[in-house]
Amino acid sequence: MAVIERFLAPDSAFQTRFFFLAKRFVAGETIDTALEAVRDLNAAGLTATLDFLGEDVTDPSEAQRTRDTYLAMLAAIERAGAATNVSLKLTALGLLVDEALCTGFLTAIVERAATLADPFVRIDMEGSAVTAQTLRVFESVFAQHKNVGPVIQAYLKRSPADVERAIELGARVRLCKGAYREPETIAIADMPSIRRAYLRMAEALLARGNYPGIATHDDRIIDAVKVYAMAHDVAKDRFEFQMLYGVRPELQRALATEGYRVRVYVPFGTHWAGYFYRRVTERKENLLFALRSLVSR
Ligand SMILES: Cc1cc2nc3c(=O)[nH]c(=O)nc-3n(C[C@H](O)[C@H](O)[C@H](O)COP(=O)(O)OP(=O)(O)OC[C@H]3O[C@@H](n4cnc5c(N)ncnc54)[C@H](O)[C@@H]3O)c2cc1C
Repeated sequence: MAVIERFLAPDSAFQTRFFFLAKRFVAGETIDTALEAVRDLNAAGLTATLDFLGEDVTDPSEAQRTRDTYLAMLAAIERAGAATNVSLKLTALGLLVDEALCTGFLTAIVERAATLADPFVRIDMEGSAVTAQTLRVFESVFAQHKNVGPVIQAYLKRSPADVERAIELGARVRLCKGAYREPETIAIADMPSIRRAYLRMAEALLARGNYPGIATHDDRIIDAVKVYAMAHDVAKDRFEFQMLYGVRPELQRALATEGYRVRVYVPFGTHWAGYFYRRVTERKENLLFALRSLVSR
C-alpha cells in the first residue's frame, strides 16, 4: 500500500506510530491529553474549541460512535470546568450516510452542549460537495437550538450570500479562507482576491452579524479587522479571533494580551492524517515543523 494511503486509512496503527509528526498541530490522541492542552491555553487567557478528528464516515455505526464520543467529550469538559466549546464535521456524524440520521446525531450533541457553561457547537465546513447539505442541516437544527453555528469559507463564490443568510438568521459564523482544493468555477483561486473577499465578509459580520469568529493567522487580515473594529466602534467583546493549535502561538497570546478574545481550535484523536495533510500542504512552515520533529526525536 502506498505511504499516503496507509496514513489515510481508517483505524490505522500507522497513524498512531507516526503521531509524533502531527504533535505540534494535534493535541494528543485522547480527550484527557486534549483537555491538558486546553488547560494551558485557558491559563494563558485563551479559550478553545475541541474537535475530535475524523471525516467521511460511510458506516452508520461509526457515525453513532462519533456522536457518543462528542457526548462523552461534553461530559469531560463539564467535569474539568474547561473554557472550551466543541467543533465537529458533519461527514463524521454520518452526512454521507443519511442526512436525517446526521441531523438527529447533531441535535443530540447540541442539546447536551446547551447545559454547559459554553454551550456553543461549531459545524466545521468541509469540501464543496457537502456545502449546501451542511448549511441545510445547520439551519434545520438552528430552527430549534440557537447554540449552533456554521463556518463560511471566503474562497467560495457563493459565500457572500451565505454570510447574508447567517446575518438574517442571527447565527454565529466562523469565517475562514477555506482549506480544500476547489475548482475555479466555484472558488476564487488567487490569494489577494481571497483576502479581499474575506475582508468584505468580515466587515459585514462585524457590522451586522452575531459575534463572528475571525479565523485566520494572516497578519494583513488581522490588522485590517482591528482597524475596522476600532473605526466603527465594534467593541473587543463583540467578536473573537480564532487560530489553530500549534500555529502562531505567540500571536495568539499577544492578541489576548491586547485585550482581544482569542479561541484556539484544538483537534485531537487518532485520525489526524487528513487534518495534518491540509496543514502541511497550505504552508511550508508547517511542513518544516513536521520535518523538524522527525530529526528531534
Ligand atoms: C480556527 C480555525 C478554524 C478553521 N476551520 C476551517 C473549516 O471549518 N473549514 C475550512 O475549510 N478551513 C478551516 N480553517 C482553515 C482555513 O480555511 C485556512 O486554510 C487556514 O487558516 C490558512 O489560512 P490563514 O489565513 O490562516 O493563513 P495562510 O493563508 O496560510 O497564510 C497567510 C499569512 O499568515 C501568516 N502565517 C500563516 N501561518 C503561519 C505560520 N505557521 N507561521 C508564521 N506565519 C504564518 C503568514 O504571514 C502568511 O503569509 C480554519 C482555520 C482556523 C484558524
